Amino acid sequence: MSDLNAFVTRETVESDAEGPLSGKSVAVKDNLSTEGLRTTCGSAMLEDYVPPYDATVVARIKDAGATIVGKTNMDEFGMGGTTETSAYGPTRNPADQSRVPGGSSGGSAAAVAAGEADLALGTDTGGSVRNPAAFCGVVGIKPTYGLVSRYGLVAYANSLEQVGTLAPTVHEAAELLDVIAGPDERDSTTRDPGADAECASAADGDVEGMTVGVVSDLIEGADERVVETFRDAVSDLESEGATITEVSLESLEHAVQAYYVIAMSEASSNLARYDGVRYGVSANDASGEGSPDAGRGGNWNDAFARVREKGFGPEVKRRILLGTYALSAGYHDKYYKKAQDARAWIARDFDRALSEADVLASPTMPVLPPKLGESLADPLQLYLIDANTVPVNLANLPAISVPAGEADGLPVGLQLIGPAFGEREIVRAASAVE
Ligand code: GLN
Repeated sequence: MSDLNAFVTRETVESDAEGPLSGKSVAVKDNLSTEGLRTTCGSAMLEDYVPPYDATVVARIKDAGATIVGKTNMDEFGMGGTTETSAYGPTRNPADQSRVPGGSSGGSAAAVAAGEADLALGTDTGGSVRNPAAFCGVVGIKPTYGLVSRYGLVAYANSLEQVGTLAPTVHEAAELLDVIAGPDERDSTTRDPGADAECASAADGDVEGMTVGVVSDLIEGADERVVETFRDAVSDLESEGATITEVSLESLEHAVQAYYVIAMSEASSNLARYDGVRYGVSANDASGEGSPDAGRGGNWNDAFARVREKGFGPEVKRRILLGTYALSAGYHDKYYKKAQDARAWIARDFDRALSEADVLASPTMPVLPPKLGESLADPLQLYLIDANTVPVNLANLPAISVPAGEADGLPVGLQLIGPAFGEREIVRAASAVE
């Protein structure tokens, strides 16, 4: 066993089915429900929670013959970008163990990068598949909103998140996506992408005639070493026959603010279910030994507060407080409604840019992977490293992170963004980058 701490629970679930994933090991992020297998979401609140059913994506990989090798570590409820907010300790980056693997699907990316699993499932609300893929030097796909079922995904921010795939190569990440994609009657936001949606075959490395729009707004302010590696990879695409243009999306400067208002608002509502009655730490466990309430839960508000004080970590508490504030009467129009307006503007801006280019390109992350412990002290700094990934979730678009090279011996990821249900376009362009 390695000391990366990539898994919260290591347990093997074999499948009797024969299919495209036969002989493949898959690591599953710990916010995807697995029947009979503990699902913690990286939280002490769900330390003992064992779901009675499989998420649709889990059922689909089992039907395709995959062997599940465990549940991977993550930022608590997906809230973070470094896998350090987990109640089960941080995961280490296999490329440099003194550094974070990115997050929140850091365990999934580290497991694939270290060869502890052939493939992995993650989830991406604002970058959580692409960010750790970039930091660990693997491929990560965040599908178009509605391509993959969210049934059985423990919700953080429903309107933003999708299940995504992580793999050593573009082709394998696309193959796993083909297995999990497609309509599900249990998630009414899923869409039928149509007959020609299969995307693994698009990984043919052929970018001849394709137009790639470099998003200038997502390069300003990025680490120079990242920008240099990114520019080199873009020049390679050009020499392979792609046309490179520059595009600018003015709305993007508001993306981080809009994202955090929306994500925290949805989170504050979703996390209300952890009340010690239906899920999570029970009120009895949370009442102090010898307290008058011990053994009987006591007053509802007190019991609710005790459960949440004990079960949630600081980042989760911060977000519930801010989200509740943003939605409260008197502030709703000032914050939540404004954020929704910004979201609509960002979506329109992408539509325009994607009418001028087949795919858009940027560095996936504006920075190199931070040292462990470095970014936790300043939450705002941590939120800003999401600048290049969150716009994609706000616009419901597909994006992929593919290794672009290294800077100072650390992996750098290149992000390609496509039009809605344009997974084949981003897979094609990404396969030319590797
Ligand atoms: N870092 C972002 C956040 O904390 C994105 C997380 C995610 O995609 N789950 O919200």
